[in-house]
Amino acid sequence: MPAEPAKPKRNGAKPCPVCGKPATAESHPFCSERCRDVDLNRWLSGAYAIPGRPADDEED
Ligand SMILES: [Zn+2]
Repeated sequence: MPAEPAKPKRNGAKPCPVCGKPATAESHPFCSERCRDVDLNRWLSGAYAIPGRPADDEED
């Protein structure tokens, strides 16, 4: 499971990866629980899209 993005850490507040607003300690690394939820759903969608992808080499 992707715990954290492999990005170099910087000093200071990181911008929310969803909307770009300054992240808060409560919803780190997002600015709010809403954005965290958005990112989670976004990730889940991608996670399901990759393994759920049918064989593209469809030989008939
Ligand atoms: Zn946000």
